[in-house]
Amino acid sequence: MTQTFMPSFKSMDEIYDVQLEGLKWTVKHAYNGSPVYRKKLDEAGVGPDGIKSLDDLKKLPFTTAQDLQEGYPFPLLSVPFEKVVRIHASSGTTGKRKVLCYTQKDIEDWAHFFARCYEMAELTKEDRVQIAVGYGVWTAGVGFQLACEKFGAMAIPAGPGNLDMQCQFLVDFQSTVMCCTASMGLLMAEEINRRGLRDKINLKKMIFGSERSSDAMRKRIKELLGLEHMFDIPGMTELYGPGTGLDCVHHTGIHYWADYYILEILDPETLEEVPEGQTGEMVVTTLCKEAVPLIRYRTRDLSRLVPGQCPCGSIFPRHDRILGRSDDMIIFRAVNIYPGQIDHVLSGIEGIGSEYQIILDRAPDGKDYMTVKVERDQGVESSRDKKLQEKIAAEIKKQIMVSANVEIVDYGSLPRSERKSKRVFDNRE
Ligand code: ZN
Repeated sequence: MTQTFMPSFKSMDEIYDVQLEGLKWTVKHAYNGSPVYRKKLDEAGVGPDGIKSLDDLKKLPFTTAQDLQEGYPFPLLSVPFEKVVRIHASSGTTGKRKVLCYTQKDIEDWAHFFARCYEMAELTKEDRVQIAVGYGVWTAGVGFQLACEKFGAMAIPAGPGNLDMQCQFLVDFQSTVMCCTASMGLLMAEEINRRGLRDKINLKKMIFGSERSSDAMRKRIKELLGLEHMFDIPGMTELYGPGTGLDCVHHTGIHYWADYYILEILDPETLEEVPEGQTGEMVVTTLCKEAVPLIRYRTRDLSRLVPGQCPCGSIFPRHDRILGRSDDMIIFRAVNIYPGQIDHVLSGIEGIGSEYQIILDRAPDGKDYMTVKVERDQGVESSRDKKLQEKIAAEIKKQIMVSANVEIVDYGSLPRSERKSKRVFDNRE
């Protein structure tokens, strides 16, 4: 029998059993191991044996990025130091860096479920994986690397950047898979074409980490390289690192490893569960993480659960790509809206560019109005504006259930920035 990293579960009920056992263990372990968790749990009135069913998850207190920052440098540590074998840290773009400790078992668990990602992407031991992500204190490089070796494919630890070397490796080593950010994927695709290397390489798949890839970007990469598949790999340092799930070859959403963590999708305002299929904040609870277990950790990332069964038959549930950050949420006429949702609507419409702005105003009668400014795409005639306007307004109404005024502006007229562009202008008091 071929080696598999997939569990033998046949039903969600079996996964729920694992989740209940894992949740009981996690609460007890965190309570006994970490004074910070003990205090939080005591305040919530949950003792070390307070979990009787999965519904008890709702009794548990939330953990936030602030908890991690306040405990700097080794926050929420729940094992003695002698059990810690490694640390990783987030890049620390907001405030202090988040540092996470790992035990040997944490490292092994991570490599095991990350190896699943390669299996989900239908790699074999014959594959040669060019790992063009950052190595260092962050989790990316070493995560991709260990899991690739565990899976049994050949790892090429190239690191990021250095297009010259990347191209050379693709030609000389005949890499079949490349792991990188989507922006790097696009740079590579353009470079390979510019150098006329497409017939000299053997690249079949790309796995994109860490950054949201727009549909337009993916389409262009696929065309330029003639790839079979592109996958999105989610992951954050707090939750081991990359590899916590992967979309399968049907690309209907990201199958996530529900036997290692519980994913809740909550309304970031009320912290209540949203109906299945609706967008909300991803809140995660780990089931066997030793050094720094997470109890209802608010990731601030937005996504939604994908209802129904995937054609691939995998038992693992799916979540959508990351649709943005909950800090960016707008409340408009009592509807929660995320800029990522507007992004998503616009990316499905031909004839417009990728830049847009959302402007919110309050009229003297107290009513709120939303204007969405969108650039006409390069080479598109302004005579199409009216049709585009109607189409965009109709799609926003259909997909987000709000009415917006749409304005089409000239290509290149909205400001661009190397960093994240400001897209939301809220002029309501
Ligand atoms: Zn699937």
